[in-house]
Amino acid sequence: MKSIPEKGLSKAEIMKGLSAFRKGDHSLYDGRMFGHAFLVNDEVRRVAEEAFVMYLWENALDPGLFPSLMEMEREVVSMSASHLSGDSEVVGNFTSGGTESVLLAVKTARDRARAKRGVTEPEMVLPVTAHASFHKAAEYFCLKPVFIPVDRETLRADVAAAKKAVNENTALLVASAVAYAPGVVDPVPELAELAQSRDISLHVDGCIGAFVLPYFRELGVEFPDFDFRVPGVTSISMDFHKYGFAPKGASVILHRNREHRQYQIFASSKWTGYTIINPTVQSSRSGGALAATWAVMNYLGQEGYRQVAGDLYEATQEIIRAVDDMEDLYIIGRPETCILSVGSDTVDIFRLTDEMKSRGWHIQAQFRQGKEHKENFHLTVLPPNTGLISQWKKDLAESVEAVKKGPEEPMPAELLNALSGEDLANMDAQKLEGLFKMAGIEGGALPKSMAGINRILNSLPPETADKLFVYFYNVVSA
Ligand SMILES: *Cc1c(COP(=O)(O)O)cnc(C)c1O
Repeated sequence: MKSIPEKGLSKAEIMKGLSAFRKGDHSLYDGRMFGHAFLVNDEVRRVAEEAFVMYLWENALDPGLFPSLMEMEREVVSMSASHLSGDSEVVGNFTSGGTESVLLAVKTARDRARAKRGVTEPEMVLPVTAHASFHKAAEYFCLKPVFIPVDRETLRADVAAAKKAVNENTALLVASAVAYAPGVVDPVPELAELAQSRDISLHVDGCIGAFVLPYFRELGVEFPDFDFRVPGVTSISMDFHKYGFAPKGASVILHRNREHRQYQIFASSKWTGYTIINPTVQSSRSGGALAATWAVMNYLGQEGYRQVAGDLYEATQEIIRAVDDMEDLYIIGRPETCILSVGSDTVDIFRLTDEMKSRGWHIQAQFRQGKEHKENFHLTVLPPNTGLISQWKKDLAESVEAVKKGPEEPMPAELLNALSGEDLANMDAQKLEGLFKMAGIEGGALPKSMAGINRILNSLPPETADKLFVYFYNVVSA
């Protein structure tokens, strides 16, 4: 066990220690990681860093003390509303990330349905492609999630299914622009019309897509309207720390008007301390991420963002052409921005991502979901990737060949047997630990090849897999 050192270390020792932690980290700049760190270039990075540090210690808890932060928030919200075709009625708040924005959208819809329609057993209708943060919100805020399928060809939410799924308990209908996995825009106008006809809130999750979509439309890409242009859209989330290129801890939740936003705000004067008025989940919050967001938006400007979007578009088209040319792989749906997934009927996706990893590429494997959605891998294309696409294509082709030639990696048979005979939902900790040992996971260290484990997790019912993940995380984390 570690304790706070009796005598403090020197600044030099501290910095050395911090650098040492980094030795296992994936490089931010090598262009071989898709997603995770949204960097444009060093220039933008330095502007963000200076702005972040300038407002690192200010606390947005009490805007009376730091009106600077309220003013900055107002400008960032206003620029966002204008980016998404909102009028001056649109209001919003800066949040710590997409998840917080989504949590707030769900809570707001739930409380509005209760106040306006007397809904006491709230439900949320969402496509299977909606981000997991909605499942989290359903758990946190006690809404029943009602899932609807997506079209098999386009991967867009099925409107007819949505019509069947809504009822007098529906507080919220969810649409994505774009949905994270397939990178497509849901039919927002039809879903919004359905929501509006029943006074149901409609949230558009634009966490990853909303920032770049307007630029992709300028480039000639066609997709349904998704923003405040569409009557019936009541709120939109958009992450700055994704394609807004601000550092982490930056997103926005926008509402059509104050009538909707009122249900987001929490106030309490029922305790012995100062009166709390919180528009967001966080109470005390640093001004750093907000200042960095304000800085990056103003530094890049429309021109800068447009240029980056152009590069991302070109790189994505090159990726799509390369995959289309490969017999063993295919693009899932018709991705509308620079976010896409790739599937295969002939090569094992999990061995493929392992092969790519051994060539230095970090590519995310995504598990099967029901019978309709096979396992696949995901790409969030970013500026550092754009110069390396020809190398990526070459390595991908090589990796496909390696998987096809290489020996079929056996599923850890012992583990498979143990899993098949078990009532996994009711397994105790000791048994779970035994399973992890069989899978080669001990003391929190993952085996070098993930293909075997991934294939097993991929074959389990999601509830069981989740139980294993929770157990695993609980064991390995602090
Ligand atoms: C990333 C993402 C979220 C969640 O955002 P975090 O910033 O990771 O909390 C929600 N929805 C979509 C579509 C996303 O891509």
